[in-house]
Amino acid sequence: MSSVYDTVVQQFARAADRMGLDPAIRKILSVPMNEVVINFPVKMDDGRIEMFTGYRVQHNDALGPFKGGLRFHPAVDIHEVRALATWMTWKSAIVDIPFGGAKGGIQCDPNLYSEAEMEHITRRFAFSLGANIGPEYDIPAPDVNTNAQTMAWILDTYLSTLPPLERHRSIHVVTGKPIEAGGSLGRAKATGQGVVYCLEQWASDRNEDLASMTYFVQGFGNVGSWTARLLSAQGAVLVAAEDHTGAIAAEKGIDPERVLEWVSEHGGVRGFSEATAIDHETFLRTKADIFVPAALENQLTAETASWLDNQVKVVAEGANGPTDLDGDSILAQKRIDLIPDILCNAGGVVVSYFEWLQNKRSEFWDLEEVDGKLRKRILSGYERVRDAASEFDVDWRTAAYVVALKRLARLYQRRGIFP
Ligand code: NAD
Repeated sequence: MSSVYDTVVQQFARAADRMGLDPAIRKILSVPMNEVVINFPVKMDDGRIEMFTGYRVQHNDALGPFKGGLRFHPAVDIHEVRALATWMTWKSAIVDIPFGGAKGGIQCDPNLYSEAEMEHITRRFAFSLGANIGPEYDIPAPDVNTNAQTMAWILDTYLSTLPPLERHRSIHVVTGKPIEAGGSLGRAKATGQGVVYCLEQWASDRNEDLASMTYFVQGFGNVGSWTARLLSAQGAVLVAAEDHTGAIAAEKGIDPERVLEWVSEHGGVRGFSEATAIDHETFLRTKADIFVPAALENQLTAETASWLDNQVKVVAEGANGPTDLDGDSILAQKRIDLIPDILCNAGGVVVSYFEWLQNKRSEFWDLEEVDGKLRKRILSGYERVRDAASEFDVDWRTAAYVVALKRLARLYQRRGIFP
C-alpha cells in the first residue's frame, strides 16, 4: 500500500507541473530539511522500562521557524510525519504567516497508559528532542491525542533545561498551551472556527444558506467537536457523527453539546442515547449537504468516496489528508466541492501564530481580536485559492498548492541559494 507521503509527492508534482515551478525550487521543496528519530526509554507505573520511538520532521523553514503539531498514535511513522510536516509548509504559506512546516509524534496508543505514564512519555520525549525544538526555531502544538495539557508538560520540561534568565522569554516554544500557562484565547476552537469561516464563505459564494443545511462529521475530538458546535450554533443540523468507537445518526438532528458531554464521560460517541448506532459504510452514505472529515488520513478513497450521497455538496477537510488521489477524482466526478485541508484547517496554525506573537510581546488579546484576525487570514487565504483555481483552471487542492508554491518560489528567487 502506498504511504500518505506518496500522496503528498503526487499532489505536489501535479501543482508544480501545472504552474511550471522552477526546477531548482522544485528539488528543494521535494524533500524535508531535517528528520529526527529518537528511541527513548520510559519507566512505567509498575517499574518496568518501555522503549518508545518519537519523530520530528522539519520540512522547510524558508518562511519562518518550523511549526507543526505533535501526534500520539499507533500509526505514527516516518512516512506519516513527513507528509504532515510537508502539508504544514504549504498551510502557513497559504494563510501568509511567517512559519515553516514541521510535524512530530510518538508511535504509541495513549489508551494503554495511565495519565502519569503519558506525562513521563511526553516529558522524556521533550527532553530528548533538546535543542531540536525552540521558540525561534521549531514550535510544536497539539494534534491527534495531544492537547493543552501535553503542551504544558513540554513547556515545563523545556524551560527546566534552560538557565533561569532565559525561561520567561522562551514560553513560545510551544503553542496551544493552557491559558494559565501562556495560551491564547480562541486557540482551542481555532481549527474548527477556521473550518466554519471557510464554509460561510463557500455558502455565500454559492448563494446557499448555511443555517438551513445538514452536515455530518467524522472525528469528535478537538477539530470535529468545535466545528460541530460552531456550525450548529448557526442553525445547521448535525445528522451523523463518527469516532474511533463507532458511528451514530439521527435524522431529526443531534445536539453537539450533548454528544460532547457523552464523549467526555464515555470516551467516544458509541452508545449515545439520543441517536441510533450505524456502521461505517452507512455513516459515509449519510444524506446531508456537508461532510466534515476531522479524524485521520485516507478516509475518502476509490471505494469510500463513491459511497458519498448525491446530496453532499461540499467536503470541508478539517483533518489532514482525509482524501487520497482517487478520492479526489471521485469527488470531482460527483461534482462535490472540496475545501482542501491545507486551507480548511489552517485556523489552528493561524491562532498558534497569534499565541506566539502574544508571548513574544507579553500581550494578551481578547477573543474578539483573535477571532477577527483569524477570520481575515482565513478568508484572504480562501480568496487566493479561489482565484488560483480559476486562473490555472484547476481543482481547489491543486490551486491551494499553487498559492503556497508561488509564495515560496518568490522568496527563493530573491534570496538565492547559498553558496
Ligand atoms: P483529536 O485527538 O482531538 O481527535 C481525533 C478524533 O478522531 C477523535 O474523535 C477520534 O475518536 C477520531 N478517530 C480516530 N480514529 C478514528 C477512526 N478510525 N474513525 C473515525 N474516527 C476516528 O485530534 P484533532 O486535534 O481533532 O485532530 C483531528 C484531525 O485534524 C487530524 O487530522 C489533525 O492532524 C487535524 N488538525 C488538527 C489541528 C488542531 O489544532 N488540533 C489543526 C489542523 C489539523
